[in-house]
This record gives sequence, structure tokens and C-alpha cells, in this order.
Amino acid sequence: MHAQGEHNDFTTYGEDEYLQIAEIQHYQFCPRQWGLIYLEHQWAENVLTVEGTLLHQKAHDPEIKEKRGNRIVKRSLRVASPRLGVVGMCDVVEFIRDETGIRLPAYQGRYRVLPVEYKRGRPKEGKEDIFQLTLEAMCLEDMLVTRIDEGCLYYGETHHRLTVPLKGAIRTQIEKTLQEIRNFREHRQTPRVKRRRGCKSCSLKDLCLPELSRTKSAHAYMMGVISE
Ligand code: SF4
Repeated sequence: MHAQGEHNDFTTYGEDEYLQIAEIQHYQFCPRQWGLIYLEHQWAENVLTVEGTLLHQKAHDPEIKEKRGNRIVKRSLRVASPRLGVVGMCDVVEFIRDETGIRLPAYQGRYRVLPVEYKRGRPKEGKEDIFQLTLEAMCLEDMLVTRIDEGCLYYGETHHRLTVPLKGAIRTQIEKTLQEIRNFREHRQTPRVKRRRGCKSCSLKDLCLPELSRTKSAHAYMMGVISE
């Protein structure tokens, strides 16, 4: 395992050092949720099975076609970035005809790249979905040698497609977050956090909260639950 800060543009990550793109979404929602899923694998199956089923459904969505007018649509596209040490899958990547874009083998003209991430719920208060989408875009940029300034999040509950700018400080935040995840992973340490608003909707709450609350008095626990 490489020491913290050892990586730079000229260093590659070993196979066992790669992170899944989806990890950043869980970590950004709650570092503890990430630890429960990716370090303490006994609980990973709950969440990942659901996600796998949803991906499967999306892959068979009859609304998604391979070619629509001026755009080519690719589903379930595997991506990776040796520079960032991450690997994963984009739900959908659209290549839109645009003379400022890149060339694609077997197609005429140039195309702009637009990642689209599908989510079953509605837009969230936190940035976890934006982090995941941006990291997907960063992988695509590295693989296709292009720049991606926006992506889309599609929310199943609201049937709404949100255009998200992918510029600015978020990329630096993502690289910092990846480093934090690596540090926890290296020390095999599940982060401890305070109860948060997201606990209510967290799929791991039944497993996590009793443990989190172990050091509290029953009164403090009840006050915490009531004040949510
Ligand atoms: S229940 Fe709360 S603290 Fe525990 S993993 Fe879920 S969001 Fe994090």
C-alpha cells in the first residue's frame, strides 16, 4: 500500500488500491455508512443488491435507445481512472453532436460527452449525487481526453432531469475525499459520526444506530430521536 501523499500524476495505483466510484456517494452521504458497507462487508449486500437490481432495471429501460437524433446513447459504460485510482460504471453516457467535441470510432463528426446518473429518489440536500456524477465525468475525461463541464442527474421519483455544472472547487474536494477514504480503508477503521438528519432515511439505521447510541444514556437517546 502506498503512503499518504505518495501518489502524483506519475504514480499508478495497485489493483487492490482502486476504489469504486459508488464509494464516494456513500461516504459523502455519511462516512460511517461507507465504512459499514465497504469495510464491514456483512452489511454491504443489503445496499448493493438493491443498487444492482436498479441498475439491471435501467439497463433494460425501453426508453433508452442507442441512437437518438444527434446523440448516441451508451448504457452501463465501465470507466476507470488510473490517475485517481477509481473504477466504476456510468449508468448512461450521451455523446451529443458538437463540433467542439471529440471524435468517436465508427461515427462521423465530433461529439460532446454528457454523463447521466439515474437515481431512484428525489434531489437530495447533500452533494453525494453530484460527487458521484463528477467523479464519473473525471474518469471519462481521463479516458477520452476531453473536458466535461456538465452532467445530468435523473430522479425517478420526480421524473426530473437536472443539469449539473461540473466545474470549480468540487474536483479538488473529490480528490481530497478519495484520500480520506483511502486513509480509513488503510487503517480498516469505520468512521464514527454524530447522528444526522440522513439517519432517518438511511437503509443501515437498524444496524448502525444501536451501536452509535451505546455510550448515550436512554434519556439522551430519546431526546435525540424526538428532536429529529
Ligand atoms: S444510520 Fe446515520 S450514522 Fe448510521 S450509517 Fe446511516 S446515516 Fe450514518
